[in-house]
Amino acid sequence: MTIDIIIAYVKRYEFGHEKDFVPPITGIHLAAITPREHMVRVFHQQVDRIDFDTKADLIALSFFSGFAPAAFDLAREFGKRGKDLPTPRYDLLSNKFLIRKVIQATRGCPFTCSFCTVLTLNPGFRLRPVEDVIRDAAYDAFPHWWQRKVVWFWDDNLTINRKYIHALLTELKPLKKWWLTQASMDIAKDDKLLDLMRESGCIGVFLGIESFDKESLADAHKRQNKIEHYKTAVAAIHKRGIAVMAGFIAGFDHDTRESIEEMADRVMEIGIDVPFLSVMTPFRGTPIYHELVKEDRMLVKGWQFYNGYNVAFRPKRMRPKELLLAHRNLWKKAFSVRYSVKRILRGLLTLRPGALCLSLFMNSFYMYKRIRRNYPVDAL
Ligand code: SF4
Repeated sequence: MTIDIIIAYVKRYEFGHEKDFVPPITGIHLAAITPREHMVRVFHQQVDRIDFDTKADLIALSFFSGFAPAAFDLAREFGKRGKDLPTPRYDLLSNKFLIRKVIQATRGCPFTCSFCTVLTLNPGFRLRPVEDVIRDAAYDAFPHWWQRKVVWFWDDNLTINRKYIHALLTELKPLKKWWLTQASMDIAKDDKLLDLMRESGCIGVFLGIESFDKESLADAHKRQNKIEHYKTAVAAIHKRGIAVMAGFIAGFDHDTRESIEEMADRVMEIGIDVPFLSVMTPFRGTPIYHELVKEDRMLVKGWQFYNGYNVAFRPKRMRPKELLLAHRNLWKKAFSVRYSVKRILRGLLTLRPGALCLSLFMNSFYMYKRIRRNYPVDAL
């Protein structure tokens, strides 16, 4: 492999430096830890001419914060020349994974939900070139038909940039894949987008619904969710035969033990095909984490409490143990045989074949755990 490491630079004096004095160490250090079989070149934009027509397989950009604009310009220039992410090495994935074609087309999300790590881990919103994403979606060197057929988009909010998603789905259509992703509830009002999602093979969308309580949604800065629209939003997606997976969180400040446990019924009422049920987890760096620290409500605990199934803070209206118990009761009720089978049967009336397979598989997956008593583990 050939690798170009570029240290970006922006002039800080009208005429630049009279003498370039001393280089940063990052580039040559990165070169030193790169295995010797790779051919490495190091460019300092401060003194070197950048080779935009390079044949390098990998281009690494490094920069001091104030020089970021130069790094972004370089990234854009290389992007235009087709230097971007290669197709992931799907061949290195174990065949034990049912779905192997995982893709990320975008990074980031423009919303600001208080518990979400995306804002700090993936700030801004970035798009990969449509042709690169399509190239990855077309990768078919898998042994099983479903591994070739299903494309799992790991995006935080794939549909938010309408111009981009229309371009992507129009190109995806001829591949005749089944695909799934995460999206926000605004899609339910966009008939044109929903139609295109159906035509391009969408079988499931994951929506972060989170709560049935207005004040909790306000606390979470989840402006885009309107409780009174949940049912119609799900129905609009079902109209296209697409399954709705949805995330719900137990442990908002307005939650009580009862309100958490009754979520199992409300999830059924609005027609969710596959629920994902977690405990509020104040990940470091999120607004909710800072809020809880300010209120002295964080419990000093290990990382095992940050897996989405445990309690790492002091809830407002119950004790930590009660929140845990309420979540476990919710989980058991939601994945009971009765509710799981009901969701599968309901899908027979609303879902297209791929979406029905998804609902059948995922509901059976959780129902089997429930039957075996393979419950979420309590961290110690
Ligand atoms: S909509 Fe989803 S991805 Fe975006 S900030 Fe909220 S929780 Fe995070």
